Amino acid sequence: MSQKFSRRDFNKLLVSGVAGSALGIFGAVRPAYAAQNRIVVIGGGFGGASAAKYLRKLDPSLSVTLIEPKATFYTCPFSNWVLGGLKNMEDIAQTYTVLKNRYGVNVIADSASSIDAAKGTVTLKSGKVLNYDRLIVSPGIDFKWNSIEGYSESVSNTKMPHAYEAGPQTALLHKQLLAMNDGGTVLICPPANPFRCPPGPYERASLVAHYLKEKKPKSKIIILDPKDKFSKQGLFKKGWEKLYPGMIEWRSVATGGKISKVDAAAMTVTTDFGVEKGDVINIIPPQQAGKIAVDAGLTDASGWCPVNPITFESTIHPGIHVIGDACIAGAMPKSGFAASSQGKVVAASIIRLCQGKVPAPPSLVNTCYSLIGPGYGVSVAGVYKLTSAGIVEIPGSGGLTPMDADDDHLNEEATFARGWYNNIVQDIWG
Ligand SMILES: Cc1cc2nc3c(=O)[nH]c(=O)nc-3n(C[C@H](O)[C@H](O)[C@H](O)COP(=O)(O)OP(=O)(O)OC[C@H]3O[C@@H](n4cnc5c(N)ncnc54)[C@H](O)[C@@H]3O)c2cc1C
Repeated sequence: MSQKFSRRDFNKLLVSGVAGSALGIFGAVRPAYAAQNRIVVIGGGFGGASAAKYLRKLDPSLSVTLIEPKATFYTCPFSNWVLGGLKNMEDIAQTYTVLKNRYGVNVIADSASSIDAAKGTVTLKSGKVLNYDRLIVSPGIDFKWNSIEGYSESVSNTKMPHAYEAGPQTALLHKQLLAMNDGGTVLICPPANPFRCPPGPYERASLVAHYLKEKKPKSKIIILDPKDKFSKQGLFKKGWEKLYPGMIEWRSVATGGKISKVDAAAMTVTTDFGVEKGDVINIIPPQQAGKIAVDAGLTDASGWCPVNPITFESTIHPGIHVIGDACIAGAMPKSGFAASSQGKVVAASIIRLCQGKVPAPPSLVNTCYSLIGPGYGVSVAGVYKLTSAGIVEIPGSGGLTPMDADDDHLNEEATFARGWYNNIVQDIWG
């Protein structure tokens, strides 16, 4: 099969939702009869909600408790579409009603404040203590607040939002863009690798440009990047030249992209090359695993959690499985699709472990769409397998939208992106 043919067919499989089963992820799983195992899941985002739902779906006899403080979970996927005026906050809101009522997940609206790996307990903020036989930790990311002088959580909540956890942060950045005058400058400052959703800042620049082109065409966007290349770079640059000529400027580390300091009062950032002023400033700080994973000692020196690549069980604390952005998953990027894929794999592994069986080596999937304009989508996809080198991408299993894709193809990818979103949120929370 040619690269172009296999990519489009693969995307169609993913959108129709059959890729996971077609790849044999769940084929060997059977319900565990009379299992008495108590599974606790921390975090009801892409990884945790997927794991909780699929545990109950695959074995309704399991006791599954999901701890999540938010009654409404706003998805980061499509939050850039909100910034571009293509979606509303309600369009990206998910709740836990179906997990509770249809799948029998015991959802507790609280946060985990500590884990005792030796005793097998989780203590909640309310003071309640839960016992577990197996614990799944999927808390997403936390920010390294001290890494940029002048930037703090309080600055992010008032003047310079990161909008890298969707919800109030997305709403704040959106409000600032709406309030900006025509002719203003938007600074977008992504972090160094590794970080959540590698194409996210560049999709954001694209969709903010879409909004500005329509409403404030004299404005500009400068991306100040501490890297010398970024995800889907060729495709993004081509799209920017076509849809927003002259509006988006990307500065790499070599051309002054690395920021070291911000001044929230003056609305400036300092780079190696000087001081840059912005009317709207989006700082996406360096990241690490969610706080509870750090506090529980599940991270290594990298700030992320090392895991067994078959079961996603922590290599530091047995009995605790870490999935999603927080874990080190080899070649897999930190994406919602990857987190959900890992959630299903960990559900299948835990059921086999509860049955006293050996978990099967997983097949894992990722696909990530980015919208450059409303009818202009691009994507990257891959299938991953386990080798002696850890989780690696199977050569030729996925790939990128071809650079010479025509308008119909790009429009079709934008349609696939919408299908992908509807399918994955239904699969996880529906
Ligand atoms: C702008 C943007 C666009 C993106 N677009 C895409 C995309 O198009 N496709 C894609 O696949 N991915 C995308 N992503 C990436 C995706 O959002 C993440 O990779 C994904 O959310 C990771 O899932 P997770 O389960 O690790 O964390 P999350 O989904 O963030 O879930 C973590 C949950 O844990 C909860 N939590 C944290 N600490 C505790 C605690 N102590 N106790 C209880 N609960 C806790 C949090 O409240 C949260 O609900 C995007 C990200 C961004 C920022």
